[in-house]
Amino acid sequence: MFDGPNPPFELPIVATADATEPTRHEKRRLPRWLKRPLPKPGMYYTSSVIDDLQLETVCESAKCPNRTECWSQQTATFMILGNVCTRPCGFCSVPKGKTETIELDEPERVAEAAERLGLRYVVITSVTRDDLTDGGADHFYNCVLAVRERTGAQVEVLTPDFLGDKAAISRVIKARPDVFNHNTETVPRLYHRVRRNAEYQRTLDLLAQVKDEAPEMPTKSGLMLGLGETLDEVLDVCADLRGVGCDMLTLGQYLAPSDSHLPVERYLPPEEFNEIGERVRALGFSMVASGPFVRSSYHAGEMASEHEQTTCR
Ligand code: SF4
Repeated sequence: MFDGPNPPFELPIVATADATEPTRHEKRRLPRWLKRPLPKPGMYYTSSVIDDLQLETVCESAKCPNRTECWSQQTATFMILGNVCTRPCGFCSVPKGKTETIELDEPERVAEAAERLGLRYVVITSVTRDDLTDGGADHFYNCVLAVRERTGAQVEVLTPDFLGDKAAISRVIKARPDVFNHNTETVPRLYHRVRRNAEYQRTLDLLAQVKDEAPEMPTKSGLMLGLGETLDEVLDVCADLRGVGCDMLTLGQYLAPSDSHLPVERYLPPEEFNEIGERVRALGFSMVASGPFVRSSYHAGEMASEHEQTTCR
């Protein structure tokens, strides 16, 4: 697959002018492979359950391009701890500013939504709450337990870095989520621009701590591509993730939520995502999802179950 005179991986992902690099005028126009399906009836049911229970979802807050597909299949990713974040990440459309009070009944409402939607696999994420002593870890714990108790569903957590607070991370581990997911988001060189107030090493340390305290708990991380990273940088990050025992990886196209967010440097075509996925798989991840629409929680249940099958073989 990678032989031939001009192997694609010799090129940096930040490409010079080519067919996939958006011109200034094309920046807001998406390439043909980034068109999404029209809503199906199930979407409105999902929407009504979420509205009824006054829950937040990252699907809406992050303007996820998969919302039509996921919500039509009655799947959503719940975002707890409010809809206001304490970090100024340049890629994210979640509002920043004055944070909201923790709603003590939120775990039960998330559990009820999971029950009403018939979910067998639930993904719970949150805004980053650097203003809270434990970063919201105890609330994560309560949400995982409430969902599991009410529905028996498997639960994946997609957490912030808790400023590296080991006690907070331990609290979430103690809830025994079925998958512990924490995103790397981008390569270390771009952290300052993309993920200000986060630290690359802190992310690796978090994932290492999960493996240290619960070796059997699958860990997962993800990166957005198209922000100006090079292929070598991506491969280095993936090797670092394997170095801390990370089991599963997601690679997806960064899409700018608006003109005031970081611009897309490059749209990678699906074939390139496939090729990068193959390269990364060889590093030993049990599961790699790589494609323009892949997001941390996209088909998360299927990914976890394939991980389980792979590791049981
Ligand atoms: S990929 Fe995740 S965040 Fe996006 S719509 Fe689907 S469940 Fe929501």
